[in-house]
Amino acid sequence: LVSRKKKPENTIIDVKGVKIGDGSQQFVFGPCSVESYEQVATVAAAVKAKGFKLLRGGAYKPRTSPYDFQGLGLEGLKILKRVADEYDMAVISEIVTPNDIETAVDYLDVIQIGARNMQNFELLKAAGAVNKPILLKRGLSATIEEFINAAEYIMSQGNGQIILCERGIRTYEKATRNTLDISAVPILKQETHLPVMVDVTHSTGRRDLLLPTAKAAIAIGADGVMAEVHPDPAVALSDNAQQMDLKQFDEFVSSLRSSAFVQI
Ligand code: PEP
Ligand code: MN
Repeated sequence: LVSRKKKPENTIIDVKGVKIGDGSQQFVFGPCSVESYEQVATVAAAVKAKGFKLLRGGAYKPRTSPYDFQGLGLEGLKILKRVADEYDMAVISEIVTPNDIETAVDYLDVIQIGARNMQNFELLKAAGAVNKPILLKRGLSATIEEFINAAEYIMSQGNGQIILCERGIRTYEKATRNTLDISAVPILKQETHLPVMVDVTHSTGRRDLLLPTAKAAIAIGADGVMAEVHPDPAVALSDNAQQMDLKQFDEFVSSLRSSAFVQI
């Protein structure tokens, strides 16, 4: 169902009026984790001031260590919804179990399925049964074929509103947290009719690489880019090495806007 052979024209996902997949370039910014109302609202104000409407923030955090911050859970979803309402923005956040899908539908504009759950088939099926856009991330070690099959799981249940997100894969290379598979973007766009985004934060794990990889993503035809922004990354409860602070965010957006092929 996700195959371009089945449906030649692009699928366009409408998130509160923001169209993803229509040829425009869309951006998702926000903190790694939702930590407090003030923290999310501060980022939302900065993101909105630049003219962007899509805000991210993790409430259920799938952490490698059980001793790391696990997220605020439902409280985090409530904070996101409050900020979305107050700032007229659309919010994206991850859930990690099918039990949370109905709650997520009430609080979120886009439900994220993270890399670690790309093959959580029960979660994929649950996501396929709701009427809400799903942002599906590529698994840590997933081939493109496995990634496409994960999207097929969702669509086979009836939900065709899927955004694919390349977020880097595990390779032997240690210079970056993961290896951004930039060629996945045109391959996914050839093989499927779904919009494709690139998460530059989790793929690189390096603040100094966010701008060049975002430019590369746009240049190669991605429908959007995701990057993490935090008011004070040094004290962030997760991913403090790669989130941008507000000044870096400002510079990031200005640099993108001065790139010839970026239209934002
Ligand atoms: C995230 O976007 O918060 C996240 C955990 O990303 P990934 O699933 O790609 O690691
Ligand atoms: Mn993160």
